[in-house]
Amino acid sequence: MNIEAAKAALSHLDIEGNENSIRAKSRDFFWYSPVLKARLDHIVADFVVSPRNEAEVIEVLRVCHQHDVPVTTRGAGTGNYGQAMPLAGGCVMHLRHMSAVKEIHPGRVIVEPGCLLKDLDAATKAHSGQEIRMFSSTWATATIGGFIAGGSGGVGSCTWGSLRDLGNIIRLRVVTMEAEPRVLEFRGEELPRVSHAYGTNGIITEVEIPLAPAYEWVEMFVACDNFMEAVRFTHDLGNQDGILIKLGSVYEAPIAKNYFQRVAPHVDAGTSVIGLMVAPHSMDGFETFLGRRPEARVIYRSDASDWERGPGPVFEYGWNHTTLRALRVDPSITYLQVRYGYPDTLDLIEKMRSALSPEVMQHLELIRESGRLIYAGLSLVKFTTEERLDEIVRMHEEAGAMIFNPHRYTLEEGGRQTVDDRQLRFKQEADPKGLLNPGKMISWDDPDWTFDKMYAYPKLKAAT
Ligand code: FAD
Repeated sequence: MNIEAAKAALSHLDIEGNENSIRAKSRDFFWYSPVLKARLDHIVADFVVSPRNEAEVIEVLRVCHQHDVPVTTRGAGTGNYGQAMPLAGGCVMHLRHMSAVKEIHPGRVIVEPGCLLKDLDAATKAHSGQEIRMFSSTWATATIGGFIAGGSGGVGSCTWGSLRDLGNIIRLRVVTMEAEPRVLEFRGEELPRVSHAYGTNGIITEVEIPLAPAYEWVEMFVACDNFMEAVRFTHDLGNQDGILIKLGSVYEAPIAKNYFQRVAPHVDAGTSVIGLMVAPHSMDGFETFLGRRPEARVIYRSDASDWERGPGPVFEYGWNHTTLRALRVDPSITYLQVRYGYPDTLDLIEKMRSALSPEVMQHLELIRESGRLIYAGLSLVKFTTEERLDEIVRMHEEAGAMIFNPHRYTLEEGGRQTVDDRQLRFKQEADPKGLLNPGKMISWDDPDWTFDKMYAYPKLKAAT
């Protein structure tokens, strides 16, 4: 690895010289996990370069390939698993300048990867009253490229499913890491090669995704005195075919009382809370539904609020914002990502809750999977030891609730613990030297890995 030669060759580009800034741009939200915090806190790149267009991306990749310098791509660095962290040092390629919304058409948009989700939404709304189908709850700060390369779904997934579902990405333009980088266009079966691949096998330089009609969503908090009633209420609401929703989050008591500062004055410690986004034209239907459910009461409506201090966007309490809010109050909190699959979704939730409450607090997000509504859990966990956390993971798996472990930095361990052949094969072709985001794909480094313990990347930059 010849860092100085690479830096010199790229010196006419926007290169970061300030040490503090390089350190800040070498980090993401890995610290949500005490396991990753203990292992990755010292990680820092050698330099940060911010290309202005695809030609400069190609130049960065060509030069780094020539000098054997690893390249880790950064959108906004809001990922949770050290995804955007340069484990072997080298170059962080920050795509903040590549943020243009290029074309908007009925039902689709073409955009550069560094565009913030909120800016993309604003542009499509202003242009033709359209919005993106789904976004991570980091809508205000995250990029569309980072969402596709590192995220999975979020607000909107209760209607549209996840990013990996057919139709939720139309086309990706990708640059390879070779002596002479190639530019490829992927559609259909080719998309999973690079979507949710953490930038380990190609850099996305253009995204085409579908759009939906934009609405002034009515955001609500609904209170229930019984957690499972809140779970059923939200599930049943999602199953109302004529009512359009964009968010259905459920927070077991006392999450709202303890961790949601602006909501706390309106609930007590025994209140379980539901966060909803309902389309304005569905509010009549919603109110009729609500009238049949005496167990639930609306405590906040964004279009008719009497709260002295507004709560801000309701989706910023959901998805991984729940963990953030809890961590701010209690630093010993961490989380797990759980899939409570069909058909035992509600039974599994009840089972895990009775086995692990109050050490684990249930936070659920309604999602559509293969046409059925299930819950994703982003359960809050009171962290004690790594061994206990592993035991809690095992308990879920033994009960049949799949865990996507957010305390691991590799694609496989954060996913289904299996090798994604499509991603591996494309890496062999597109990054033969293994320089893109090294340490994140076990199957590249150690094809015989058996997943019986946490993977430790052998070339992880040592702490100094
Ligand atoms: P980064 O963190 O910068 O990058 C993510 C990954 O993609 C990295 O591996 C990076 O190397 C790679 N990458 C970035 N750009 C490119 C590119 N152009 N080409 C190739 N690879 C690239 N995630 C969800 O899916 N849903 C949620 O609801 C959600 N909520 C969150 C809430 C909080 C409070 C936090 C901290 C995180 C949350 N996340 C969620 C995780 C993360 O915010 C999202 O996935 C986000 O969309 C990532 O965007 P980013 O620009 O920050 O990407």
